[in-house]
Amino acid sequence: MTTIADAFAAAYGRAPEGVWSAPGRVNLIGEHTDYNNGFVLPFAIDYRTQAAIARREDREIHLRSTFADGEVVASLDALDPATMDGWSAYVLGVAWAAADAGVSMEGAFGLDILIDSRVPVGAGLSSSAALECAAGVAFNDLWGWDLDKLAIARLGRVAENTAVGAPTGLLDQAASMLGKEDHVVFLDCLTEEARPVPLHLREEGLGILVMNSNVEHEHATGGYGDRFRSCERGAKELGVESLREVDRDGLERALEVLDAETLRRVRHVVTENERVLATVDTLEEHGPRALGPLLDASQESMRDDFEITVREIDLACEAAVAGGAIGARMTGGGFGGSSIALVPLDKADAIADAVRAALAQAGLREPTIFPVVPSEGARRDS
Ligand code: ADP
Ligand code: MG
Repeated sequence: MTTIADAFAAAYGRAPEGVWSAPGRVNLIGEHTDYNNGFVLPFAIDYRTQAAIARREDREIHLRSTFADGEVVASLDALDPATMDGWSAYVLGVAWAAADAGVSMEGAFGLDILIDSRVPVGAGLSSSAALECAAGVAFNDLWGWDLDKLAIARLGRVAENTAVGAPTGLLDQAASMLGKEDHVVFLDCLTEEARPVPLHLREEGLGILVMNSNVEHEHATGGYGDRFRSCERGAKELGVESLREVDRDGLERALEVLDAETLRRVRHVVTENERVLATVDTLEEHGPRALGPLLDASQESMRDDFEITVREIDLACEAAVAGGAIGARMTGGGFGGSSIALVPLDKADAIADAVRAALAQAGLREPTIFPVVPSEGARRDS
């Protein structure tokens, strides 16, 4: 098996100085709440993006990925998000975001970088945050930034918002930076306070299946931005800074103020925030076996109110629960991508079979189903 160090040597003719990595993520619950200053509950998964890196004598970044042909070259003296495009924007954007946030890049040296990833791209598992965070931890070490994990997560978000142009919140990067084995990361997107919450999956004999619909999504241009603007409009018409400020009483008032579609969008965000808080309480008081109704209610809310699911996802969730899953819901931005099912480990194979059979019977695309294990966040590997 070729290691990333071998691949780096083949690409750049010398050994890397180190290898850093960051994981993709799955959001257990709390969808489209992050950019509304709400609550999210993701975990880092056991699929990672690695960056092998060696320093250069000049101030150029040379960037390659096993995911794409060719080499991208950029000067540290001319980083400009407006001219960044393609996959390199996720990496160069992090360096630019740091400089823009006031981190001195004066003493920074150039880098040869090779990226290799096991995170499926465009599956709703945030290969983009894995890439940003792998770059972020590496830059932090190599250039001596001395930033904490949450600060690195913020740079990844800025890169995604500015260099890539996707109006996403902090969820993905926080999970990738702060993930812990068998824990979810409870993040308050308003205060940006985060804390790990134990899942106890292993001791309960439970696991999580990802069911990738293989229907592709497009964040920067698609319905994601559309929902973002609906939430903005809802908040404006309700006279609040963000939908975080809207509670049950606020929803009553929204009934009178908002048009029917905006009301449904707002109702999803408000009830989803409640479900995230209830999930944390439930985990702490009763454990993961009690999460079914919350996961299922979240799926229904995304399907009926926020309208971001596709038929393949809805059917996969229904079939998983009918086949014995504790609960199932779409995860990620929506319009395709993946759903998750919380399953007893001894039923995992039978549930996966039931989901595949249900989709085949409906004449829909075959899903890719695989287990994920809540894992450690970004780190230096070697
Ligand atoms: P997701 O984050 O759900 O996987 P996104 O559309 O947000 O989907 O991000 C996918 C993009 O991230 C890819 O189109 C590519 O530009 C970039 N990317 C992901 N993984 C890699 C990789 N290993 N090498 C280069 N670019 C990557
Ligand atoms: Mg992404």
